[in-house]
This record gives sequence, structure tokens and C-alpha cells, in this order.
Amino acid sequence: MKIVLLGPPGAGKGTQAEALVKKLFIPHISTGDMFRAAISSGTPLGMEAKRYIDQGHLVPDEITAGIIKDRIAQPDCREGFLLDGFPRTLPQAEALDEMLKEQGGLDAVLDIDVELDRLIVRLTGRRMCKDCGAIYHLLYNAPQKENVCDICGGSLYQRVDDTEETVKNRLSVYEKQTAPLIEYYQKKGILHIVNGDNPINTVLADLGKALGQNWN
Ligand code: ADP
Ligand code: AMP
Repeated sequence: MKIVLLGPPGAGKGTQAEALVKKLFIPHISTGDMFRAAISSGTPLGMEAKRYIDQGHLVPDEITAGIIKDRIAQPDCREGFLLDGFPRTLPQAEALDEMLKEQGGLDAVLDIDVELDRLIVRLTGRRMCKDCGAIYHLLYNAPQKENVCDICGGSLYQRVDDTEETVKNRLSVYEKQTAPLIEYYQKKGILHIVNGDNPINTVLADLGKALGQNWN
């Protein structure tokens, strides 16, 4: 299955992707995670990407499409993959279609729809584990022990781009550059919209239903 998870920043893509790939046995490919890994290793890609990410801007299409092209050519993607955070612009969506044209294209695009005014609270309250990347929320998905990851015991941190000012930039970038992808995939007949305002487990079950699975 070749799947794209679409939705604004804070919709719950990373949260759902982690759960989905455990059920579907396909790799989770997050461009945001790939850029953050490159930033913490101090690679040239990381240094270039950081200039954009810290401001809430998108990393240029050629760079982003390039890393996805290399990643989906890896052997673990032969049976499919779940893309989270890519594509985010029409040129990226077109580049992805070109990459997949000999494999029959995408199977499904799952759009997690959340009211935009909820996203600031979601993003400013997000905390991530610095060791395993697990995603928490101070109110909606709090760790059992303050600032400690339930899964690996690592400490939690706030992403530099999750401050209120940067979040506002990211939401406006989403509206202008990413939201048009909803229509793009609707026209192709592969779009499924799921209500992302629901609790995390309800969203997961609805995503499963959209993929023809029953996980209740
Ligand atoms: P994205 O990857 O789309 O940016 P995340 O999965 O990181 O979004 O989720 C953003 C924040 O919202 C996190 O703090 C997460 O714990 C929280 N969250 C995710 N899904 C829900 C939900 N259905 N209800 C409430 N909070 C959620
Ligand atoms: P995310 O973890 O998905 O919220 O992404 C964090 C940041 O990485 C975004 O705000 C962008 O700056 C950058 N980024 C991630 N994916 C893309 C993409 N497909 N195109 C351009 N920039 C991206």
C-alpha cells in the first residue's frame, strides 16, 4: 500500500502514522523527521533545511522531493510506505506522481481534517521524546511522568518551530501551499477525509475504515 497522510501541522499525522505502520507493516516516512535527524547530525542537508524550518517556511521542493525519491527507492519500500508530511505543495505532488508512475501511483490519500483554530493549542502543547521521537501533548496525551517518555524514559522537549509565532506562519503556509492538494487528490478519486477533531483512537479506527480495515 502506498499511502499519503495529509493534513495541517498539528492534525495528528505523526501520531496516527506511528500507529498505522504497526498495523500495516510498511515504513513510516516523515520528511519532518528526516530533516530533524539531518539537523541533529549537522549534515549539509540539515544546515540548509534548518534555515527554513526554524522560520516556519517550507524547505524548497527540489531538496524535499530529492530525499523522498532516494528514500522510496530503498528495498523496505517495495511493499509500500506511508508518507507523512510529503507532499506539501503541488509541484511535490506532481513529482511524486512521476516517481510512482511505473508502480501504478498512490493507493490512498488520507486527509486528517481538524478545525484550524484548534491547531495552535495542539502545536504549542506538543512535546517530543528526544531519544525515540514519541509524540505527547501536555493536555491531550500527557506522559505519565512529567517530561519523561513513557516508552523509553527519554526526556521530552518542545520543537523550536512549535512556538506560537512560528506556528502561525506554518498554518498560513499550509493554507496557501498545501490545502490545494485536497482538491488535487479528490479529482484523482483517491482522497478519504477523516475527522481529526475526534480522540486519537477514534481517528485511528476511522483511518482504518477508509483503508477497508476493521480495527475495533
Ligand atoms: P502532525 O504530525 O500532523 O503535525 P502530531 O501527530 O505531532 O501532528 O500531533 C500534534 C499534537 O496534537 C501532538 O501534541 C499530539 O499529541 C496531539 N494530538 C494528535 N492527535 C490528537 C487528537 N486526535 N486529539 C487531541 N490531540 C491530538
Ligand atoms: P513536520 O515535522 O511535518 O511538521 O515538518 C517540520 C518542517 O519541516 C516543516 O514546517 C517544513 O519546514 C519542513 N518540511 C517537512 N516536510 C516538508 C515538505 N514536504 N516540503 C517542504 N518542507 C517540509
